[in-house]
Amino acid sequence: MEPKIIVFTDVGDTIIDEGTEVREVSEGVVYHAKCIPGAKETMLELHRRGYTIAMVADGLVESFHNILGENGLLHIFSTEVISEALHSQKPAQDMFQTAMDRLGLTDADKRRVLMVGNNIERDVVGANRFGIRSVLLDWSPRYRYQPHNPEEIPEFRIHRPEELIELVESINKTINE
Ligand SMILES: [Mg+2]
Repeated sequence: MEPKIIVFTDVGDTIIDEGTEVREVSEGVVYHAKCIPGAKETMLELHRRGYTIAMVADGLVESFHNILGENGLLHIFSTEVISEALHSQKPAQDMFQTAMDRLGLTDADKRRVLMVGNNIERDVVGANRFGIRSVLLDWSPRYRYQPHNPEEIPEFRIHRPEELIELVESINKTINE
């Protein structure tokens, strides 16, 4: 099946386990961190199958380069939209619009864009307002997953990163029909 789904992904507690982050000062640059079990394999497999993957993440550019680099994942991203560089932060719509623009996508493409993240207020609300498809990964014990209002309700909810592969493949089939 030809890959038509575009995956926008958060990083902290979506790919990287925030509980393993090593900083020299709190709120500072992250020097080391480990992936959530299965997350690295999942992202590499989506990349191998030809899906376009964009990073849409809040944090410091240097942190993401450090921790995704050390985990061998930097090369899978077609573009990196990082809050520090954009002077913006999810759920702000320019974070998502910038990723769309850089990938040459228009509003007509929004139905084939998935935003994967662990944060209801940033990832789910941001994606829902922007009109792309929201996927909540509820693996992390550090976040709230109960929606407080309709725009906090994700279109899809998964618990383990590996579940993303089957979800992407199944949505991809409906897009191709
Ligand atoms: Mg996160």
